[in-house]
Amino acid sequence: MRSRFVFVLVLFISTSLAAKEPLLLSLKGDFAQGGLVIGQAAPKAQVEFNGTQLKISDDGYFVFGFHRDHEAAATLTLTKGSLKEVQPIHIRKRQYNIERVDGLPPSKVNPIKPEVLKRIRKEGAMVAAARAKTSDLRHFMQDFIWPAKGRLSGFYGSQRVLNGDPKRPHYGVDVAAPTGTPVVAPADGIVRLAYDNMFYSGGTLIVDHGFGVSSTFIHLNSIDVEEGQVVKQGDLIATIGATGRATGPHLDWRINWFKSRLDPQLMAPPFEGNNSDTKTVMEEGRK
Ligand SMILES: [Zn+2]
Repeated sequence: MRSRFVFVLVLFISTSLAAKEPLLLSLKGDFAQGGLVIGQAAPKAQVEFNGTQLKISDDGYFVFGFHRDHEAAATLTLTKGSLKEVQPIHIRKRQYNIERVDGLPPSKVNPIKPEVLKRIRKEGAMVAAARAKTSDLRHFMQDFIWPAKGRLSGFYGSQRVLNGDPKRPHYGVDVAAPTGTPVVAPADGIVRLAYDNMFYSGGTLIVDHGFGVSSTFIHLNSIDVEEGQVVKQGDLIATIGATGRATGPHLDWRINWFKSRLDPQLMAPPFEGNNSDTKTVMEEGRK
């Protein structure tokens, strides 16, 4: 399994009572805000994370994640027949930077026109529907690769201040590169949304990796796949652009676990390229 996981928990619970097999076999991932954890349970066990039942494969795999501001304490509960195990989970708190972006068109920062607000709502619903799709794909278990080469110019979780106005945090990782730079699939999946012009996010693509884990790519110049298409890791899926609310060409890559936003940098290997830049020149969409 991947070596960069910062924490590996393997449980061998052998009570002398019955010498039963443990229900929780392993948990691997980043136990930090924005992190994703893959677990394996005994076959036919049921798993709940903080009271929400998780999808589990026939051979016992499941996945869950922690949003940007996730509270420190959580609980995983496994049951099988009359057996029950409760595993406390501690989630590390992270510090986020403040990123200021100035020079955006005011109409893109605080839209007020009714037709624009209507459009934003409609596009938001399309995105929510695409992210809510769940599938039996298990591609979230792959070692992800970076979808583009360039320069890291924006980071997960940072608090955005646009034209002086505090806004929603930034949920993606931004890779700045010229318009037309290839974007490849970071892992296998199925395309759930391919839409060329959203108000905030411009060219917008969502790829389902299974069990509620998906990637979102925004501000695309072109989209080279269609909804429903199967993609393999490394396949060309789009090109980088500056569409939607952006001040320059970049890819904004996001990882979702259903409604939770996760940090792609915790999924991908160390970025090869220049990431020492401190000036944020890009802006995000909301997807
Ligand atoms: Zn961004």
